[in-house]
Amino acid sequence: GAERSKNVLILMSDTGGGHRASAEAIRDAFRIEFGDEYRIHVKDVWKEYTGWPLNDMERSYKFMVKHVQLWKVAFHGTSPRWIHSSYLAAIASYYAKEVEAGLMKYKPDIIISVHPLMQHIPLLVLKWKGLQKKVIFVTVITDLNTCHPTWFHPRVNRCYCPSNEVAKRALYDGLEDSQVRVFGLPIRPSFARAVLSKDDLRRELELDPDLPAVLLMGGGEGMGPVKKTAMALSESLYDKDQQKPMGQLIIICGRNKGLVSTLESQEWMIPTKVRGFETQMEKWMGACDCIITKAGPGTIAEALIRGLPIVLNDYIPGQEKGNVPYVVDNGAGVFTRSPKETARIVSEWFSTKTDELKRMSENAMKLAQPEAVFDIVKDIHELARHRGPLANISYVSTSAVTS
Ligand code: UDP
Repeated sequence: GAERSKNVLILMSDTGGGHRASAEAIRDAFRIEFGDEYRIHVKDVWKEYTGWPLNDMERSYKFMVKHVQLWKVAFHGTSPRWIHSSYLAAIASYYAKEVEAGLMKYKPDIIISVHPLMQHIPLLVLKWKGLQKKVIFVTVITDLNTCHPTWFHPRVNRCYCPSNEVAKRALYDGLEDSQVRVFGLPIRPSFARAVLSKDDLRRELELDPDLPAVLLMGGGEGMGPVKKTAMALSESLYDKDQQKPMGQLIIICGRNKGLVSTLESQEWMIPTKVRGFETQMEKWMGACDCIITKAGPGTIAEALIRGLPIVLNDYIPGQEKGNVPYVVDNGAGVFTRSPKETARIVSEWFSTKTDELKRMSENAMKLAQPEAVFDIVKDIHELARHRGPLANISYVSTSAVTS
């Protein structure tokens, strides 16, 4: 029809790899489901339009999670609502003009936040502009269990929770049943929709066609005990009696360039591939038989879709802690911080305990929610339909000029 396409603004931040991956998942699902009906903008408004501390979150976050005690204080110290909401309101008024310009530039009909710190300020800006009733605002939570309360804001149209545990927290924090939906964590459609054969993938990625393969990673930033684990695996997956490898190792270091160069200069007893940031994770996961990772929600949800049993070897305190029982209690993996123990478990999975590997793989697939991202965009589409014609939102202001 003659209706213009609607603008969707997705607010994210590159703290870790997960928020960007979720944002891109939602963008791709909108395209697949609704084509030109929606125009999607994925933006880090803080970085582009504000000053310190908001524009610096990426760096502060990396610094704090490396110094775990600092992150614990930051996470738990800001949990009470009166602390974070007054802090965020103060920042909001300080950067009001800039944030307003940043948001209004895209003339959004729908705003989707995939970040714990992107509820309060954008909603305040909408209130100031009198756009609260016109612009749809939804939150897509990307933590599986123990999430920070800044995720929950009572004035959102929807709060999409990846699990029932998170939904319970949302209700406890004052959201209404009608605002809360539980579909699962949004994962890039390439994971859900692609039909991939392991043999083809191994050929494409130049892996050994027969040896069982373990994927070792540490989120978008390549965190956790990756190097020690790799060295231990190189030992444990080499069969000394028969003098041949009983498995192969793929290490994906993400944006951790230092780790890539350290690992590239190592000697390995088994076939090993060291990679930096990969854009087609569904292929690497599809080519492997199990995964070792820190408890990042994105990586976990993706591994479940591919049916990969998981060894969790680390977690970021606070938001990732609850991901551990989610995996372990559901029989999809194990938790250990010890690289030696990790290496022993994987070598058993590839030799004497193949039945355990198979059982965990089946449990993983039972937990997987590949359709979550489609359920989320369809629900947002319904909200937009019921909102009626959106074309009459007027974005007249000093900072945004309508055509
Ligand atoms: N990822 C990727 N390429 C890489 C490493 C990671 O695309 O080389 C993706 C990974 O597939 C996942 C996300 O980055 O979607 C990591 O998110 P997670 O929640 O596991 O951890 P975070 O990095 O946010 O702490």
